Amino acid sequence: MAIATTEPTTGTTLRTFTALTPGELEARLRLAEETFRTYRHTPLADRKRWLARAAELLEAEAATFGRTMTQEMGKPFEAAKAEAQKCAQACRYYVEHGEAYLRDEPIDTGKDRSYVRYEPLGPVLAIMPWNFPFWQVVRFAAPALIAGNVGLLKHAHNVPQCALALEDLFLRAGFPKGAFQNLFIETREIEGVISDRRVKAVTLTGSEGAGRAVGAQAGKALKKVVLELGGSDPFIVMPSAKLDEAVETAVKARLINNGQSCIAAKRFIVHDAIYPEFERRFVERMARVKVGDPMDPQTEVGPLATEGIRQGLHAQVEKSLAAGAKAPVGGKLPPGAGYYYPPTVLTDVPDESPAAREELFGPVAVLFRAKDVEHALALANDTPYGLGASVWTKEEAEAQRFIEGIETGMVFINAMVASDPRLPFGGVKHSGHGREMALHGLREFLNAKTVRVS
Ligand code: NDP
Repeated sequence: MAIATTEPTTGTTLRTFTALTPGELEARLRLAEETFRTYRHTPLADRKRWLARAAELLEAEAATFGRTMTQEMGKPFEAAKAEAQKCAQACRYYVEHGEAYLRDEPIDTGKDRSYVRYEPLGPVLAIMPWNFPFWQVVRFAAPALIAGNVGLLKHAHNVPQCALALEDLFLRAGFPKGAFQNLFIETREIEGVISDRRVKAVTLTGSEGAGRAVGAQAGKALKKVVLELGGSDPFIVMPSAKLDEAVETAVKARLINNGQSCIAAKRFIVHDAIYPEFERRFVERMARVKVGDPMDPQTEVGPLATEGIRQGLHAQVEKSLAAGAKAPVGGKLPPGAGYYYPPTVLTDVPDESPAAREELFGPVAVLFRAKDVEHALALANDTPYGLGASVWTKEEAEAQRFIEGIETGMVFINAMVASDPRLPFGGVKHSGHGREMALHGLREFLNAKTVRVS
């Protein structure tokens, strides 16, 4: 696939970039290895200062970065600016906590002195998606860099200017050349990089298919891998929930990032007692959503990132409708230029239809009815995915039953699922393995070296 900036609002390709030659790739891998040798020993105070500077730049230039994101993948400009600011928060989080997280951990073994010492692994390859083109990268890079690892970024082919801006950001922040490098490479070249002896670990955020490929390659090369893949998150609403708030949040949780988020709420499981009222209000609100130019501050939903994503989503909707599902709103491709897709609600979806079984990566919500708590739980867990879950109830015992019973990496009660640098992020089942952010994310790419001194 061409490495290029193609405007999702018009379908026009604005710039293309050439992939690295084998010689250029070799030079970058060599530089990563050489840089790691010295970078790992730089005083933590220096790494903290550079990361703090990166945070300042992200904030000061949020509008510039935001424009690049919006131009390349179509998210609303306001959300793109907010994404740059959130990246600044993540950098600051590790400036503040990195030292404590990296400190030796004493363990009482009697008269011997025992402890765990945390050491960086080396160059880590990050294969990243286009949907949060800054955030996905920074949430890998900030903990990796504070810990003394060096980063190699293979970004999605459709966000090359975001990739270049990130490489430039870390350089300008003061990190040594080679601490964070961008690799313009084709997918078929990734396996060679993973198996290269200088690359010590891999992290991927993306589709289940890419996860299987990268997981297999990392396994073959015996390298540590973190996989953050798709999700089909349930959003469960029980009778005690505050309905107004639940409906408003449901719309937001489905449409965030033009519907293209792994943790977007995708399956809405609503208790029978309130289902008709929830459906009525939800459909009415989805029908009012303003779709349009992502640079317009009034726009709630912009275009999808690529024509491929749009065609794939529409095929899932059409197959589900053909199987018997209903669409009280949306479901039709709009005329005109750009990769727009209308906010869509599907009801009465048959069990084996794509809407019931697959991840829908766009503004399409699927409604289900549940008889009681156990039925809601069964529906929520009836998916290959296990990323996040949002549950709306005021009853404590009910909330506890969901917290225990839901098969996901994250559960949020009376709130939408959202990433936060302070909280570990990741899934189970086909949503991947490993964690990002917080202490857990930082530790993924460290050697926890056991030391016992007798
Ligand atoms: P992909 O998984 O194809 O892309 C994510 C990253 O993985 C990109 O850098 C891509 O490179 C790379 N990649 C793709 N295939 C391989 C492979 N076989 N081996 C190694 N790397 C690979 O996502 P798409 O853009 O195709 O989006 C499709 C689906 O992915 C969505 O419908 C959604 O389900 C899921 N997705 C989930 C995300 C999440 O946040 N968890 C984010 C984005 C997508 P390149 O761009 O060059 O192909």
